[in-house]
Amino acid sequence: AEQRVRQAQKMEAVGQLTGGIAHDFNNLLTVILASLSLLRKRVPAGDERALRLVDNAVQGAERGASLTQRLLAFSRGQALKPGVVDIPELVRGMADLLRSSSGPVVQVETRFPLALAPAYVDANQLELALLNLVVNARDAMPEGGQLTISGREEQVSVRQVSDLPPGDYVVLSVIDNGEGMDEATLARCLDPFFTTKGVGKGTGLGLSMVYGLAAQTGGRLVLHSHKAEGTTAELWLPRAEARPAIVLQPDGGPSEARA
Ligand code: ADP
Repeated sequence: AEQRVRQAQKMEAVGQLTGGIAHDFNNLLTVILASLSLLRKRVPAGDERALRLVDNAVQGAERGASLTQRLLAFSRGQALKPGVVDIPELVRGMADLLRSSSGPVVQVETRFPLALAPAYVDANQLELALLNLVVNARDAMPEGGQLTISGREEQVSVRQVSDLPPGDYVVLSVIDNGEGMDEATLARCLDPFFTTKGVGKGTGLGLSMVYGLAAQTGGRLVLHSHKAEGTTAELWLPRAEARPAIVLQPDGGPSEARA
């Protein structure tokens, strides 16, 4: 469980690096490598020790360049792989993790209807998103409290909720009764790098990541919050195509034909 939390943090760190920093770093390394190459030519003939030091520096810089290249490629290649996801099942699979990342004083309750329609989303990214929302909820309840994870289906017929396109949605909610946000915080909480958690504790990328996933998936992140009352984070995800009414049998014929 601890490791999955660390993985989520690592993902955030990678996102942070690739958000321009890796690019800048690459430019710096190019300057360093060019300077080293000039310096190498000025090493007096026969000074093997100086040559070795310069070569060491070149090797280090080249390794750094290759690492930043890989980071850049990783961030570009992080295309979503959406699929049909049973949300209650996904949450059940994370139960231990959610409880352990919620601390001993936080009650975790899940509430799902008996048959919740599946969502069409990248399951791995959804796990990270849920983890981010749960970590936020836990952080908002330092003295303990109630954390509820619930699901429901919604139909949008006109553009109403956060400008959502009309369609069928599955809504995953993470609800806490923690410290909540005032209006100024609520207005800024989606900004990348915005955090109220202090140096070394928050990266300010959690909600940006969740928002990005929702938007890229064709859904939305909807936040409700009141100072001293709590926060509700709703992840609106497109419903996966309804299964066809006629179930194909292994021989390829529709089951109705057999009846
Ligand atoms: P981080 O958690 O690293 O600060 P986030 O993007 O996840 O970054 O959150 C940004 C800010 O939004 C938090 O620092 C906090 O002020 C506020 N916030 C997010 N979720 C909640 C919540 N459930 N309750 C109260 N405040 C929250």
